[in-house]
Order: sequence, then structure tokens, then C-alpha cells
Amino acid sequence: MEEPKPGDHIYSDRGSYYHHGIFVGEAEVVNPNKDKRRKLSHGVIHFRGIQRNANGKASEAECQKCLHKADHMGVVLTCIDCFLKEKRLHRYEYDVSLITFNTTRNGSCSTSSCDESDVVIKRAFDFFHNQSFGDYNYYFNNCEHFATACKTGKARCNQAALGAGVAGVVVYKVARRVTKGILW
Ligand SMILES: [Zn+2]
Repeated sequence: MEEPKPGDHIYSDRGSYYHHGIFVGEAEVVNPNKDKRRKLSHGVIHFRGIQRNANGKASEAECQKCLHKADHMGVVLTCIDCFLKEKRLHRYEYDVSLITFNTTRNGSCSTSSCDESDVVIKRAFDFFHNQSFGDYNYYFNNCEHFATACKTGKARCNQAALGAGVAGVVVYKVARRVTKGILW
């Protein structure tokens, strides 16, 4: 795809799953001890909940571009390289038709409308600064929920969203994932 624009919902195809985030463009990261800062030209805010190294250790060194380490969980701000992990970049589409939605692989588009990019970016930074997106849950609060919440303002609490009429969609997604054998 072409260069992403700040406020875009982007994802990388990591084979068995998609990893989602909000492209925010220029940003500055400061590590907790405040002795290091990095200016990013291609910053991404995303939600990480699962340590994927089989041995459970943070084997990756700190990224020199964005100071990200593999054991950083929650809502993180990283460079686009740490987000993509050498996989291709895709843009998540909003306002797609139901036909497109139903014939496209789950997790790449939505029939919902999205908000203006400045609203989306502010939401992403608010979640990041306040660490207010809650605990990661593969089914109910994952990286896609995070990105769609930033884009639409509607998935802030997915448990509540279940009661608002999207239960069928969620169950369908869960079923698809299980039958494809890509649970972890
Ligand atoms: Zn990085």
C-alpha cells in the first residue's frame, strides 16, 4: 500500500493472525527513566497483550529507533518496524459494504464509519498515556478492538458492546478462528 497517513488503522499479516494499530506519524517516545528520548517519523500505537516468545523471556534487545522491548505490554508507541516485524503493511478499511465485509478475511475491514484522523490520533494517545484500554483478552479486548475503538469510539468496552447487538459478529469471528486452528 502507499505511505500510511496519520490516523490510519493499519495491520500486518503475521500468518496466523493480524496485528492492528493506529499509525500516528511523528511522535516522541520517552522511556520511563526519562534519560532516553527518540523522535519517530513513523510512529504506531498498538495494543500488545501476549508474550509470544515460547520461553517467556524478552529475548529481543531494546529497539534503537523507538526504545521498545519485547516485554512491553499494554498500549505501546513504537516505530513502524517494531509494529510490522518485517511483514507487509495493510490498511484496514472502514465503510465497506456488507458484501465486501462478508467476503473478505476477518479482521481487515469494517462496515462502520470512522472518525476524523485528529480525533482518532487523540484517542490513541489518550489510551497510551493513561494505559486505559484495560487488560488484554484475545476475544473481547485485543489489538483489533483497540484500533477500531480509536477509529470509531465504539469498542471502548467490548463486553458492553456485546449487549449492543454485535454478539453475532463476535461469535462468528471466534468460530472462524477456532475452525482455522489459529488459537494460541
Ligand atoms: Zn522500534
